[in-house]
Amino acid sequence: MNATPILPNYINGHWCASNTTEYLEIINPATAELLAQVPLSTAFELNQAAEAAAAAFITWRRTPPTERVQYLFKLKNLLEEHFQDLARTITQECGKTLAESQGEMRRAIENVEVACGIPMMMQGTNSEDIAKGIDEMMIRQPLGVAAVICPFNFPGMIPFWFLPYAIACGNTYIVKPSEKVPLTMQKIFQLLEKTGLPKGVVNLVNGAKEVVDAILEHPQIRAISFVGSTPVAKYIYSRGAANGKRMQCQGGAKNPIIVLPDADIEMTTRIAADSAFGCAGQRCLAASIAVTVGEARHTFTEAIAETARKRVVGNGLDQGVEMGPVITTQSKTRIEELIQKGADEGANLLVDGRNPNITNYENGNFIRPTILQNVEPTGEIARTEIFGPVLSLIHLNSIEDAIALVNSGQYGNMACLFTSSGAAARKFRYEAEAGNIGINIGVAAPMAFFPFSGWKESFFGDLHGQSNHAVEFFTQTKVIVERWPSQWSRQF
Ligand code: NAD
Repeated sequence: MNATPILPNYINGHWCASNTTEYLEIINPATAELLAQVPLSTAFELNQAAEAAAAAFITWRRTPPTERVQYLFKLKNLLEEHFQDLARTITQECGKTLAESQGEMRRAIENVEVACGIPMMMQGTNSEDIAKGIDEMMIRQPLGVAAVICPFNFPGMIPFWFLPYAIACGNTYIVKPSEKVPLTMQKIFQLLEKTGLPKGVVNLVNGAKEVVDAILEHPQIRAISFVGSTPVAKYIYSRGAANGKRMQCQGGAKNPIIVLPDADIEMTTRIAADSAFGCAGQRCLAASIAVTVGEARHTFTEAIAETARKRVVGNGLDQGVEMGPVITTQSKTRIEELIQKGADEGANLLVDGRNPNITNYENGNFIRPTILQNVEPTGEIARTEIFGPVLSLIHLNSIEDAIALVNSGQYGNMACLFTSSGAAARKFRYEAEAGNIGINIGVAAPMAFFPFSGWKESFFGDLHGQSNHAVEFFTQTKVIVERWPSQWSRQF
């Protein structure tokens, strides 16, 4: 019998066992199989990683950007070579379907590709003769050591919103994966090791609150990226900023989609179902509320209910499965309690996905797609992030009312409109208070060459992940004004 592997950390170019006495079990959410044990590493180990990263920074920042990106080219090739294995690992530890995991890794690789443009993206600017014979320039320099704290729902992609840009800009880096899904990053760090990156440039510390708090306090760590729930984002943002660190913290969401009566209902239904039930609703860009306007109330409601009932639920590794389980048994219980809360608040349980029987996977954390109808817009179910395969239907009379509902929410991660009217689309794009807008799109996920925006309680900070925002976040600007009178220099 094979012993359950205990995951090591990767610090200063070495794989090392944690000295903790506390471990968590990593369970496949579809099969309940025990996959590994993850150590809850200590502040001491985070300190070792930060010291190693600070030492590596001295040489790494002096390595020309054109040389630094050679490691990213190697990484891109290694990620392609190991693409299927990484996707399978994501499905095994996180539960999403293999196609979803492949999509996730594709997005991760896109960020590596974009960061390969750093030699140009981190260029500065200059102005000659700001006064006679005086020139002024702005250059970008790396900050030093930076770190990312990750959530469970995209174990392969989310670190890549930050890491490739951070190291390409000349910083050194620490990744703290979610303690619920640490296996994918283990494999990715094995590939990072194969690129031959100098020791200490990238470091992996597994753990939970103790490691996070040590990151927030460590004097060598200059910048922190966080992705996770809003209460934790607020805590991390405020404590990190109070310690003088550069912070970017992405929080939770409650994304509404609006369906106007002139929308193509067949297309809208397919896209809305993928948005609400894809990744079992555990996506920060998942549709959580569908607001129907006018006649869409009947056409959309009937169509989405039928689509939800037909969705094939099971182990994401099995062929034909369209939706996997939710992450943990605790998460399943929480989601089912929220569904009950919605019913108690007066909503009609049009499709009830609780406690399904999934043949061969009786121990998995499954919930089938669920639809609550006639949800009260001010009720708890319409306001709380459920993070499960649950869509709430609300009916309103006009696009103005629908936009007012969108803008009344606590979050601002994404809002989408389905329509065939250009004027309605423009009004929505102009007025909706969310950082990512979809028009006839259900998951408005920005490509790597756009910032991953987010407003209100979905984001705390100024500069987002990905694209030129990441370059700004991971560099500090230096402005130089200089004068070189000709009489001071040797004449040739
Ligand atoms: P989470 O907030 O529970 O955990 C995220 C990270 O914070 C983990 O690494 C965890 O170890 C750490 N953490 C948790 N509690 C902590 C505490 N008290 N002190 C210090 N550190 C702590 O989030 P999750 O459940 O892993 O992920 C789901 C959440 O992430 C959802 O709310 C989802 O909307 C959000 N999310 C947002 C985005 C976005 O782009 N805005 C993307 C993905 C996920």
